[in-house]
Amino acid sequence: IVRLEDLHKRFGDNEVLRGIDLEIQRGEVVAIIGPSGSGKSTLLRCLNRLEEPSRGSVAINGTELTGNRRELARMRRQVGMVFQHFNLFPHMTALGNVMEGPRTVLGLRREEAERRARELLARVGLEDKADERPGTLSGGQRQRVGIARALAMNPDLVLFDEVTSALDPERVAEVLRVMKSLADDGMTMVIVTHEMNFARRVASRVVFLDEGRVVEDGTPEQIFAGAREPRTRRFLNQLE
Ligand code: ATP
Ligand code: MG
Repeated sequence: IVRLEDLHKRFGDNEVLRGIDLEIQRGEVVAIIGPSGSGKSTLLRCLNRLEEPSRGSVAINGTELTGNRRELARMRRQVGMVFQHFNLFPHMTALGNVMEGPRTVLGLRREEAERRARELLARVGLEDKADERPGTLSGGQRQRVGIARALAMNPDLVLFDEVTSALDPERVAEVLRVMKSLADDGMTMVIVTHEMNFARRVASRVVFLDEGRVVEDGTPEQIFAGAREPRTRRFLNQLE
């Protein structure tokens, strides 16, 4: 569903991604781990073209992204993203936030969009918060609205960028539980995370990124129990 070839990204003199080759198949749950500044967020942002790669190619569902606007719009419908800092519309209710994409982008009628939005809010455990605005919700609840909003577009792939790192510890679990249930349902997911236990339990594959390169790529068992690369081992040891 995703194919990256020789992906490079530089900001001025700072070469952040230095030749990434990566393929992701439908149904995979890929955790991307690595030190701060290693390029994890930049990689996700290149995947859905929030950043323009400097070199190399990104293909989603077999279509190479070139920057053609119609193609981009189509890709954005196929790829959902959940951010660390929610990015919800503050003036809309939870329900309104989840309905917005389906209404404006997919052109669903109000009743249909609302029915789906309520289903999705129920799925993330927030059916009783539909009429509240983000300001009155907890961080964990906001993040679950963010997930429902991403799902509302019925994406083929969902990207998560450290979605729990701005949350109080007691709120982290409720968000991870929702993500785990999505993974169990077969959603294709790319998850940048510092939650190593979560990566170990939920990911089908773990990619260790360092200095803009994929240093290691394997199953959670391979990476957490028997990383081949000294750099991966050093990174994991530091976290303990
Ligand atoms: P963290 O774990 O702290 O979130 P990360 O692995 O997600 O780190 P990135 O956010 O991808 O790292 O950043 C990698 C490098 O790219 C950093 O040196 C950062 O300063 C730089 N960078 C990221 N975005 C931009 C930008 N829009 N303009 C200039 N430099 C940027
Ligand atoms: Mg980041």
